[in-house]
Amino acid sequence: ADRDLDVVAFLASRRHAGTVALVDAATGRRVTFPELWRAVASAATALAAPPLSLRKGHVALILSPNSVHFPVAALAAMSLGAVITTANPLNTPAEIAKQVADARPVVAFTTRDLLPKLPAAGDGLRVVLLEPERLPSDPAAVVATIEEISATPPDPARRRDRVTQDDPATLLYSSGTTGPSKGVVATHRSLISMVQIIMTRFRLEGADRTEAFLCTVPMFHVYGLVAFATGLLGCGATIVVLSKYELPEMLRAINEYGVTYLPLVPPILVAMVAHPKPLPLGQLRKVLSGGAPLSKELIEGFREKYPQVEILQGYGLTESTAIGASTDSAEESRRYGTAGLLSPNTEAKIVDPETGEALPVNRTGELWIRGPYVMKGYFKNPEATQSTVTPDGWLKTGDLCYIDEDGYLFVVDRLKELIKYKGYQVPPAELEALLLTHPEIADVAVIPFPDREVGQFPMAYVVRKKGSNLSEREIMEFVAKQVAPYKKVRKVAFVAEIPKNASGKILRKDLIKLATSKL
Ligand code: ATP
Repeated sequence: ADRDLDVVAFLASRRHAGTVALVDAATGRRVTFPELWRAVASAATALAAPPLSLRKGHVALILSPNSVHFPVAALAAMSLGAVITTANPLNTPAEIAKQVADARPVVAFTTRDLLPKLPAAGDGLRVVLLEPERLPSDPAAVVATIEEISATPPDPARRRDRVTQDDPATLLYSSGTTGPSKGVVATHRSLISMVQIIMTRFRLEGADRTEAFLCTVPMFHVYGLVAFATGLLGCGATIVVLSKYELPEMLRAINEYGVTYLPLVPPILVAMVAHPKPLPLGQLRKVLSGGAPLSKELIEGFREKYPQVEILQGYGLTESTAIGASTDSAEESRRYGTAGLLSPNTEAKIVDPETGEALPVNRTGELWIRGPYVMKGYFKNPEATQSTVTPDGWLKTGDLCYIDEDGYLFVVDRLKELIKYKGYQVPPAELEALLLTHPEIADVAVIPFPDREVGQFPMAYVVRKKGSNLSEREIMEFVAKQVAPYKKVRKVAFVAEIPKNASGKILRKDLIKLATSKL
């Protein structure tokens, strides 16, 4: 297991000669596997040489929407033993400056549009533009373009430093849904083991056919990063790249490029199901939903409308390099509410968060997992690492879960998001799932509302379906009839849309602010 095998050596060993590795869905531009491999080796050579001088252990930042250049930049930097850190292009300059101050990258890959979001290159940050060419108006910090470095004659001698599977490969910042975003360090081993897990669980081995993955989930997030890594490093799939998600664009790409596998987040599924007529999906055979829970109604609605497409689910977190559990078939996702079976090579236990004691099947507690993909730790944050990963390698997920007698994982909620009503704990996700069963409710989010007497009580933000006149009182009664009294929804407000982040998670912080701003 300790072979000296880094991600790019892995890529080189699987050249998939005739296959297209990357397609830009907007322009139709294609890169074959041999071309990709050459571009990565060339870019690595140029990155290692002055003036970029990227070395093992350095950090390289990628600030870019999805593009065919993104994987080239990531793989080239990783092949040198550099660690890549990615930033959400929607982040503000102040948020990006904070990440730069924490991660201290020496090289930044970015687009011309996003360049102004980078802090001034005072600290010697050298920029590689993910654009075809340089312009005279580009600032001095821009030392090359991706096209220039991908055309440098490759020189393997430039890769002086030996890279092993235990070396860090990625420094991804968690979404920051429940608190400040933290830098998560994962190794080459984490990434490679995740690629193998996804190929096995979702049967993407591609021995007899070439899969085409549509990459519309953001590559800066662990979900998108692992998606393109699985296609390029694992099964030799074609990655069809969409720079951002829009339903018509997505459909066009699915049909034009024969997409077979589509990793997505629940809001995209919602749009596909809400469409009055079934959408044309060409050769699409599998969709993977991850990042947030999926309701029974959504699974059923999708199955009814698109019987030819299997719906798979994945559960995981940045700290687990993506997927810790998944459903691998229509059969499994029919166990409504389950996030599936544990990934191969994974151990799990459910722990009482108060006592630290391991709990038996069907009892709810915090999920701890252990496997080759678990992060090394939080970047420069030993306290946070210590409270999240035990010395013997268990990752405390912060998710409240149970595992049934057949080994299926059920995610009840996030520990940090529980609503504390008197002495009770109310999981908002449970109330959301219940409210979504109401035929006139299109979307919903439940938040804690502060109250002097009871501490907090559940408040629901509801999006009504078109034409519905459902009242606040009817909604509260609908819930009250079906739950224990301490879980009752005690306040309702209507909104046009529930705010969600790039991975489909409800931005409860924003709704709490909205609710309490009127106090
Ligand atoms: P932060 O820790 O900074 O708040 P974050 O946890 O939102 O960020 P991610 O790593 O993107 O950042 O999210 C992981 C979390 O997403 C998991 O801990 C879990 O709560 C939730 N999640 C992911 N997939 C699923 C799923 N299939 N079902 C239910 N919840 C899921």
